[in-house]
Amino acid sequence: MSTQKYLEYFDSAIGLYKQGLDLLSPEKDDISIISGCILIAIGFEKFIKYVLEKENQLMVLQKVEFQDVLNFRKGKRIGAKNTDGSKNTVTLQEGFDRLVKIFPELKMEMHNIKEIVNDRNFLVHGSGDFSLGKTEKRIRANVTSISELICSVCLKKSPVEIFGENTWEVMKNFRDAYEQSKALKLEERLDFLKRLYLHDEKLTCQKIQLLKDQKSLIPCQATYDIYNCPICNGKALVETDWDIDVDRDDFGVSVLTNAYPSLNAFVCSKCGFTLSDYEEIETLIGQETVRKIFTMENE
Ligand SMILES: [Zn+2]
Repeated sequence: MSTQKYLEYFDSAIGLYKQGLDLLSPEKDDISIISGCILIAIGFEKFIKYVLEKENQLMVLQKVEFQDVLNFRKGKRIGAKNTDGSKNTVTLQEGFDRLVKIFPELKMEMHNIKEIVNDRNFLVHGSGDFSLGKTEKRIRANVTSISELICSVCLKKSPVEIFGENTWEVMKNFRDAYEQSKALKLEERLDFLKRLYLHDEKLTCQKIQLLKDQKSLIPCQATYDIYNCPICNGKALVETDWDIDVDRDDFGVSVLTNAYPSLNAFVCSKCGFTLSDYEEIETLIGQETVRKIFTMENE
């Protein structure tokens, strides 16, 4: 194979999404599905780097050196450092964290980025029992939804313009079917709980104590919004808390690298209905509402 001078992030992202999806068609075996998921996750990382690079070429570099700034100023391509001619660039997580600093509207997806990173790492490095079907659905739905949001927020374009009609249609249809099946499952459970409630029976929900009601030395950081309870129509609370990532700096001191809101619980004290799963709470109150809660907390 001839040596190519530059591997452009955009072209590789689009190519990897396409190849990945080809491997994910229903008749394929497990190894194809694993490979397809990995390709899509790598394509997604390249897509994020493409958006960062579009903002500024230096943004994809893990550490910017003075020579990089000089080269950038002269309009030169950022210089080679590694033996293969590449420079150390950001990881998927770091890349997305940088994007959030430029586009705070993406903040609500930080929780899903973590899932993509975990799923990809498991497929690349892990072994043992796991549900491939669940992992595939999760990676595809997460990559599709965040790619869609990046198109509109960062690139101001439709996903069809970016990924092409065929690729986008496959991505979108799969994601929509997955979201729909999640909503159906939740709806079935709500119907069951409603029946219990109407018959004056105790709801089979997990008991959740809100953070504000817990005795703790750390002051409660959680925030609360009021929603209608889907079971009794009473006033229920949605608890939003902060997920915190901590790292150690060069001196071994813990530093806060990231803090982002997370949906903790949906609790109705009147009938005892609760939800504690992020995805389920999001399905119940709607993605738009979640976005609003998180954007308000940003300001
Ligand atoms: Zn209720």
